[in-house]
Order: sequence, then structure tokens, then C-alpha cells
Amino acid sequence: MDARPTEHAIDAADAATLSARFVQRFGGSPRLFRAPGRINIIGEHTDYSKGLALPAAIDRACMIAAAPNAKGLLRLVSLNFGEEIGRPAATFERRDHWSDYVAGCVAAVQAEGYAPQGWDMVISSDVPLGAGVSSSAALTVATSLAITSYANEPPDLERVRVLAWTAESRFVGMPCGPLDQFASVFGKRDHALMMDCRSLTADVIPLPANTAFVLIDSGVKHRLVDGGYEQRRRECEQAAAQLGLNALRDASAHDLERVEPPLRQRALHVVTENERVMQTAAALRAADVVTAGALMAQSHKSLRDDFAVTCAETDALAEIANATRGVFGARQMGGGFGGCVIALVDATHARDAAAHIVGAYERRWKIGGDWFVCQTADGAGEFHP
Ligand code: ADP
Ligand code: MG
Repeated sequence: MDARPTEHAIDAADAATLSARFVQRFGGSPRLFRAPGRINIIGEHTDYSKGLALPAAIDRACMIAAAPNAKGLLRLVSLNFGEEIGRPAATFERRDHWSDYVAGCVAAVQAEGYAPQGWDMVISSDVPLGAGVSSSAALTVATSLAITSYANEPPDLERVRVLAWTAESRFVGMPCGPLDQFASVFGKRDHALMMDCRSLTADVIPLPANTAFVLIDSGVKHRLVDGGYEQRRRECEQAAAQLGLNALRDASAHDLERVEPPLRQRALHVVTENERVMQTAAALRAADVVTAGALMAQSHKSLRDDFAVTCAETDALAEIANATRGVFGARQMGGGFGGCVIALVDATHARDAAAHIVGAYERRWKIGGDWFVCQTADGAGEFHP
């Protein structure tokens, strides 16, 4: 099987096409809003322990052409699904359909006490769907930005973040931490965000020149349905409770002697991962990509050996990537039990490195292999063509 890079990034020509599609279908003159997907460089399974993570917004985004309508309807077109759907704006009913993400944002605004409002939207995204780079947050952030921008100028970005998170966690019903929407809203080009998941604040960390990120899909679907994610969450809560702490964020390596295995290993991952986030941020600030990469490789080992959320396929992908020329470091990204691997790479060799990794992986596992190279980008905003 050949290596397959996923499709291109949205540009001004796409924005013009999106506007034209809107006008053709609904008439009027829409405004355009974009919100990016995100990566997480390091800091995995630390969010629900109120710890640290190092996400960044990427140069792939969801773009929405939007305008209010006076019909009390949500009339939503997704170019990704090639589908239009109409549903009432006034009531939210979960339909297990992509439109739930948009309807959830509208419902979140109404839950704040605002009158129901109909919307026409045409949606297009080049964030790969379901690949672990948060196409869902890109969609809810772009939608929430559209809705709030029509009401207030300039929009309150913290409110956009909260609406997007509420839509996804409460209305769509996906258990998600605050990281995805935070990065999509507040990301900064050429920077990562050292995010504190307790205070929901971030330090902006400059990234070294000539670096890029390669994302490779293992082809193994997150087996979240098996309850592995929930179980890890519970284990972290139990470990914190045994230590008399609110959250593992406050534990030290020394404390962990008082916790029995396997909770001790789970907690050890969280404690060491928080350390690694700080060390990675410091290394990136100093343009020390070798140290940053080594910390990413250590993060994978910790996810594998202590937190036990990797699988044979992502272990193989990370191992191949970590031994590939031009790769500074790689690790499994996301909830675990599959999903994708992120590699910090030398931008000059990014595509060659990706092709090499994918080739070696596919020869062995005969699956997966969708990949793309990305850079960091600014967070959500209105798009002015
Ligand atoms: P991820 O966020 O990792 O991409 P999720 O399963 O959380 O994966 O979110 C993917 C879902 O978000 C899609 O199945 C779809 O319901 C919705 N979605 C994302 N982007 C779009 C889009 N452009 N058009 C319609 N629905 C979208
Ligand atoms: Mg998602």
C-alpha cells in the first residue's frame, strides 16, 4: 500500500467557494469563521488530574459560512458529508448525527437564557475527521464563534471556549476535557501553549524554527467503548483519594510509595508526565529539539508501561518513528488504545520521514498509514477574504 497524505489545507480560494455555496443555497451575505484542529505535543492523560499539557493549534481548520435566519430552523450543510439537514433551533434532541455538534452550540447559547435563533450554515473542514486532531472541537469552536460574533463585537473568546466545550460534553455527550477547545480558541502560530488544566490558563511557548509535526494514523480505532479511558480516570481519582488529595496534580513521586500497584503506576505516569511537560516547554524555549524529542519518546514509554493505554500497533509506530532520521521524538497522542502517533520532526525532512515511517508500519501491520505534516497556527477567528 502506498503512503497516503491526507488532503490539503483550507485557503482563500476555498473560502470563496464556501461563500458561493452559501449564497447559491441560502442567498444573502454570510460571514466566514474558522477554527483549527489541535495537536498535543506532550502531557497525555493529565487533564482530568488538573495537570499540565502542551497543545498547539494546527494549520488545518473547520471553516463555516454562517448567517442567522428568521425561520427558527438550523439549516446546515456539511461539505465533508455532502449532506444538508434541517432541524428546529428551539429544542435540542440528540440524533447521533454530525449536526448535533452545531445544534449543541445553539442549545448552549439558549441555556444561557437567550431566545432561540435560526441559523444557516455551510461547513467545510480539512481537519481529518475522527483522527484525533479534534475536528469536533474545530466544528464547535467555529460554530460558537459564528453565533457569538453576530451578537457581540469583538466576541468574547473565553465564552466561545465554554460554549464549544458545553456543546460537546453536555449536549453531544462526549466526555472531553478542556484541552481541545482551549487550543482551538487560543492557539498561536509558531507557538505551543503550556496549559494548566486547573486554572485554565497557558504560557505561550515559542517553537524552534524549521520544526514541523507529522501525524500518522495507526488505523486502530480508539477503543474507548471498552471503558479503558473511564477506568484510567477512576484509577487516578482513587490514587488521589488514597493520598488525601483533590487531584493527582498535587502528588509528588515520593508520595506514591503510599499507593498500591497498579494505581501506583497510573499515578506515576501522571506525576512524571507533568514534569515532562515543564521540561519540554523549557527545552523548546531553548530550541533544544533533541531534548524535547527525547521527552516525547519517554512519554510514550510511560503511557505504555505505567499508564497502560497503548497497543501493539501504536507501540510499533512510535518505535519506528523514534528510530527514523529527521524525527526528534514521537509518541501516541490522544485517549489511547489506538489512534495516532505524533512526531516532532525537522521540517526539511518531514515528508521523507513520514513516508519512511508509514512504509515500515504498513509492511508490518497492513493497516492505517494516513498521515499529514502540519505546522502550528493561530486560534479561531473570523476569516476576511
Ligand atoms: P475528532 O475530534 O478526533 O476528529 P470526534 O469523533 O471527536 O473525532 O469528532 C468527529 C465528528 O465530528 C464527526 O464524526 C462529525 O460528527 C463531527 N464533525 C467534525 N467535522 C465535521 C464537518 N466538517 N462536518 C460535519 N461534521 C463534522
Ligand atoms: Mg473530538
